[in-house]
Amino acid sequence: MKYQVITKDGKAKRAVMETVHGTIQTPVFMNVGTVGAIKGAVSTDDLREIRTQVELSNTYHLHVRTGDKLIKEYGGLHKFMNWDKPILTDSGGFQVFSLAGLRKIKEEGVTFNSHIDGHKIFMGPEESMQIQSNLGSTIAMAFDECPSSRADYDYIRNSVERTTRWLARCKTEMARLNSLPDTINKEQLLFGINQGGVIDEIRISHAEAIKAMDLDGYAIGGLAVGESHEEMYHVLDVTVPHLPEDKPVYLMGVGTPANILEAVDRGVDFFDCVYPSRNGRHGHVYTNQGKRNLFNQKYELDPRPIEEGCGCPACRSYSRAYIRHLLKAKEMLGMRLCTLHNLYFYNTMMEEIRDAIEEHRYSEYKAKKLAGMAGSSKADE
Ligand SMILES: [Zn+2]
Repeated sequence: MKYQVITKDGKAKRAVMETVHGTIQTPVFMNVGTVGAIKGAVSTDDLREIRTQVELSNTYHLHVRTGDKLIKEYGGLHKFMNWDKPILTDSGGFQVFSLAGLRKIKEEGVTFNSHIDGHKIFMGPEESMQIQSNLGSTIAMAFDECPSSRADYDYIRNSVERTTRWLARCKTEMARLNSLPDTINKEQLLFGINQGGVIDEIRISHAEAIKAMDLDGYAIGGLAVGESHEEMYHVLDVTVPHLPEDKPVYLMGVGTPANILEAVDRGVDFFDCVYPSRNGRHGHVYTNQGKRNLFNQKYELDPRPIEEGCGCPACRSYSRAYIRHLLKAKEMLGMRLCTLHNLYFYNTMMEEIRDAIEEHRYSEYKAKKLAGMAGSSKADE
């Protein structure tokens, strides 16, 4: 893995990361394909067309349905879904702690019930690494607990200390797995995850602790889970300076276009979020004038594309009126077109961000972009 910062504009970083599955230009938005596909009937051919750089898959979901052992037997997730570019897998931790039923946390790991059939599963750092190694993703995430930002100080401190011990076990297990002869991706990378709720001193001491472990990249987790945007930006302001500048920084599960613009300005270079696909499935589409709700009656006979000038597969061929009709008729194509447009909007915004940083006009670009999108209902007026 080679990660190189090409240039900086303020704290905003423009970097390139070489992986065994190709080059990632950052800042980058990873497109979230929960079970190995973007919800809304989006294929990997579509992802290539909308210029997706990195696909993100959920370890927990693939583990409980179809199963990582079968995917390994098939030849790994890349071959399974016909995608040869980078894939990041999450650790399963977030789903275990948020989705799964009745769980018991111990030093060894977590016992919980599958959300599909209720059967008991145990997952600890070693199991998470083994599952991600079976999937053969490009980047594996460390197994962590994501404590509620509303939990009390002692709970968060104890949880974060355990997450650090779990990270050491993840690193050891990944080194072992990468040395085995039948491992699919022997150069799998490991990102550690910073936690600490909204408590500055825990965030900082944890960042220092994981920085010392010399990992391939660093994520900031436990945000966008109920705290305010100001609290989120504050956590980035205090935490990012304690992570190594010559390694990628990934803000997990964030967020709106505005959140991304602000986080890039604070030194973050990897993002993922379900908003563009989830909103797309509900007919909410992003434009440079704000979000549109295509269910709005004013689009009934509107012959224009979702956004004029947009080069996405939806805008190139279809009108607002037709897509609105599809959505109202609950035709899958309506959701699919809106999802494609939204992902294209995010991917295009990241290209604009990279250009703006390279040309040292990021502040100007950010201010203009935010002003254009301000007031999410503006486009509907
Ligand atoms: Zn479009």
